[in-house]
Amino acid sequence: DRGFAETNTRLDVELRKVFKVFNGDTAVRGIDLDIHQGEFFSILGPSGCGKTTTLRLIAGFEEPTGGEVLIRGKSMMHVPPYRRPVNTVFQSYALFNHLTVWENVAFGLRLKKCSKAEVQERVANALQLVKMDAFVRRYPAQLSGGQQQRVALARALVNRPAVVLLDEPLGALDLKLRKEMQVELSNLHQELGVTFVMVTHDQEEALSLSDRIAVMNMGKIEQIGTPSEIYESPKTPFVADFIGDTNLFQGRVEATQTSALQVVTQNGLKMWVKLQDTWNGSLPSEVVISVRPEKIQVGTTSTTDAINAYEGTLKHVMYLGTHVHYVVELLTGDRLTVLQPNRSEALPLHAPVQVYWAANDCLALTT
Ligand code: ATP
Repeated sequence: DRGFAETNTRLDVELRKVFKVFNGDTAVRGIDLDIHQGEFFSILGPSGCGKTTTLRLIAGFEEPTGGEVLIRGKSMMHVPPYRRPVNTVFQSYALFNHLTVWENVAFGLRLKKCSKAEVQERVANALQLVKMDAFVRRYPAQLSGGQQQRVALARALVNRPAVVLLDEPLGALDLKLRKEMQVELSNLHQELGVTFVMVTHDQEEALSLSDRIAVMNMGKIEQIGTPSEIYESPKTPFVADFIGDTNLFQGRVEATQTSALQVVTQNGLKMWVKLQDTWNGSLPSEVVISVRPEKIQVGTTSTTDAINAYEGTLKHVMYLGTHVHYVVELLTGDRLTVLQPNRSEALPLHAPVQVYWAANDCLALTT
């Protein structure tokens, strides 16, 4: 939690009730968004949820059907992409293979008919920023994936944008390189101090890089928050399910105590859930309970005094190195995913087990 919302009030990007309809299909359904100067902001969601369209609306490749986009406080209505203070880095980096690093970065400035001296100075500057000034004569094919990414960023930065838009910038890379590039991207963001807006469907990437994340679903924003807010306090079952793994139970509220709800699930499991302060007074009768796999304890003995404890059988054991992943089938037929740190011997397959967790370790959500 880097507390951007509190410490920095200058807004670089504002979306006000933005809609986008393509031939009768609504891709973006009334989005409100404030992105602060210097922030690393991610738009996260499943395929088709409208995140790329949202980025293209900011870039100016699309005009909204309704609502308004503002950048640095100015309306972008009818302002073409090249007149906006933004630059996009695309997934494939879209470098020209027949041009050198230098020529790739200079390309846009030459189109704009900048003077030779200005091109010289700005290209050198941008390449220094991303530490690629030693590679000016290389061609993209002679660079590593990470170096290509740096050139793509230099090409965006050479225009001195207020905002860099990143469209799945690491999407084309294999897992190991992707992890390395995440660190690089984060370092570059910190060094440059420029606002980054990134589109990704990779929740881990969004969690690890972003100051704040907007989670999108079916053209709408479900929740905006810091990575820990989104993970620890999801507001809807969709967010809980999309960010990380979780176990969800539909249930009916049976009883309420001062600090907890008793819920009976569809299959008749009784669960105690911490009462959230956000509900002040108006309690729902139907809830969805979310229990994260890492919050569940699993053991062979039934000596727990945890308030939520259930008997079951181990159906799958997956050894993950740092962790062990279990699937436990309860007597009711419910299947639970459990993630335990790899501290002791893994439990054997088909063993009778007990799973348990505290009321504080699960959340009651409403749709
Ligand atoms: P992905 O991760 O698969 O790229 P996304 O979340 O970025 O998905 P968008 O590309 O924004 O989703 O698309 C949202 C919806 O709008 C989809 O149903 C898509 O088919 C539709 N759409 C996007 N662009 C156009 C277009 N130019 N014409 C018609 N429909 C479009």
